[in-house]
Amino acid sequence: MIKEQNRYKWIRIYPVSLDYYKKHYGELKKFTRIKAKIAPAKEKLSRKDSFKIKMESIEIIDQTLTDTKNDPSWEKRNKLVLPTKSKSIEDIDNLRKNKVKTIAIIKPKSVDDFLIEPKERGSKWEKELINGKQTTLVGDYEAEVRPVEHIPFIFRYVFKCNDNRCKGHKMMIEDWEILELWRKEKKSKGIEKAHKSVKYKCIKEMTEKNLHFIIGTESSYNNWIIISLYYPPKRKNRKITEFF
Ligand SMILES: [Zn+2]
Repeated sequence: MIKEQNRYKWIRIYPVSLDYYKKHYGELKKFTRIKAKIAPAKEKLSRKDSFKIKMESIEIIDQTLTDTKNDPSWEKRNKLVLPTKSKSIEDIDNLRKNKVKTIAIIKPKSVDDFLIEPKERGSKWEKELINGKQTTLVGDYEAEVRPVEHIPFIFRYVFKCNDNRCKGHKMMIEDWEILELWRKEKKSKGIEKAHKSVKYKCIKEMTEKNLHFIIGTESSYNNWIIISLYYPPKRKNRKITEFF
């Protein structure tokens, strides 16, 4: 997210070299607040919310939101994240078509199913990671990351938005943590158990929380996919109006 005229909005930043980041700033933690110089990314699709970052301009300004086990941290994160929520996919779909808004956060009204289907080919970024290579806008890095295993399955959430126009969605999820969970479980317990663990996490555990989808468009097709999950704990003993 980026602050613009005192309001936060979502943008996409092209990946930085993890090796470079680690060397200069230490371990990359989710919810780190940084200050940096960015410039519009020149892409084939011309998505207006895609940027590249000047790596050497990065300054870490706040890491107090990175403690995911800590409830007060969730409250602080929510104050920043929840006001940026879009009502529904239907509400922002015209902006997607015009490439004005191609990354957003929504809260599903209902999560109805989670599907695991065989996939024939891996995505480009996944293939690069499998080969231990990371591509950024400023060049290719032979990253020191361990090569990752190709997942021959596609994961999809079936859900509805809080919108009368919503006919339901069956949307692919490429959340890194979920893919890693599958890989870990498959390695130690096999494919069936990996499927079960991912389903349990994505349906049971997530719907017990205040689940939101961070959605973004694919660089080649401009259709929505779920790129990450935002899942603060549900707050008890509060009036329901405080959630919205
Ligand atoms: Zn919808």
